[in-house]
Amino acid sequence: MTAKVIDGKAFAAGVRAQVAEHVARLKEENGLTPGLAVVLVGEDPASKVYVKNKHASTIEVGMASFEHRLDASTGEAELLALIDQLNADPKVHGILVQLPLPGHLNSELVINRIDPAKDVDGFHISNVGRLGTGQKSMVPCTPLGCLMMLRDHHGKLAGLNAVVVGRSNIVGKPMAQLLLGDSCTVTIAHSRTKDLAEVCKRADILVAAVGRPEMITGDMVRPGATVIDVGINRIERDGKAKLVGDVHYDSAAAVAGAITPVPGGVGPMTIACLLANTLTACCRANGLAEPEGLTA
Ligand code: NDP
Repeated sequence: MTAKVIDGKAFAAGVRAQVAEHVARLKEENGLTPGLAVVLVGEDPASKVYVKNKHASTIEVGMASFEHRLDASTGEAELLALIDQLNADPKVHGILVQLPLPGHLNSELVINRIDPAKDVDGFHISNVGRLGTGQKSMVPCTPLGCLMMLRDHHGKLAGLNAVVVGRSNIVGKPMAQLLLGDSCTVTIAHSRTKDLAEVCKRADILVAAVGRPEMITGDMVRPGATVIDVGINRIERDGKAKLVGDVHYDSAAAVAGAITPVPGGVGPMTIACLLANTLTACCRANGLAEPEGLTA
């Protein structure tokens, strides 16, 4: 069997087009422009690229983008004051503080200062709690993107066995909560899991969010399963820099029913879902119906 390739790049383009359409309608019918504020502290090169891409994508869908670049030495009080100001600004519907923050800043304190209704990354403790208790929340972008692709591929997910490898707060745990919300039977595996291969082999849906290049191999995949590879690992092979996932693509694709590639799978969905979350936040803030198909 050769797996169907789930084209995240094309899927993300579709999500961005839907968002753009909604934004145009909000402007025309309600005189509203959704706005996303991104805060970057310091000079981390990868973070700078992410922030640049987020800005460009925000503008592209017709939203307002507010960039705040602060010096690496910015103190906690100054950063918190900026967040307070963004919380109070009616033009700002979504706030994202690019992580990681420089070591002298307490990320938890900073993230929890964001108004939960504007927390488009879904990392605020109140959104984490809401997701865990099945209440309406802002959902972390990467797992939301995975969920959208899974719903699109399977239709209904109810009753499917889902295995999530990885239990981080930003990917593994919220992914598991979302799959549970769609009535999957969910197993979360991690570094202490016994016989990981056997656990993975039970999965109709296998999500890899491990951070270890090509760790999930074809022999760990149940024939016909859907494999979602969240991993982004930069490795060197044959003297060349290469981007690979947490799944060994060739061996897994030979067994799976469907698989996301790296690059071009989950990655592009993350920014698309950030835009979707900003749109959702804007609709909620103004008492308008939420965009269909773009929320959890
Ligand atoms: P973390 O390092 O925070 O978490 C990794 C998880 O994998 C941990 O729960 C860890 O278990 C588990 N793990 C590590 N080694 C093993 C092992 N040998 N067997 C089983 N489980 C193991 O990573 P993130 O969740 O932040 O990210 C995961 C991957 O996703 C990374 O490659 C990252 O780059 C990528 N990523 C991609 C995004 C995208 O936009 N596509 C966005 C965010 C992340 P334990 O808890 O026991 O230590």
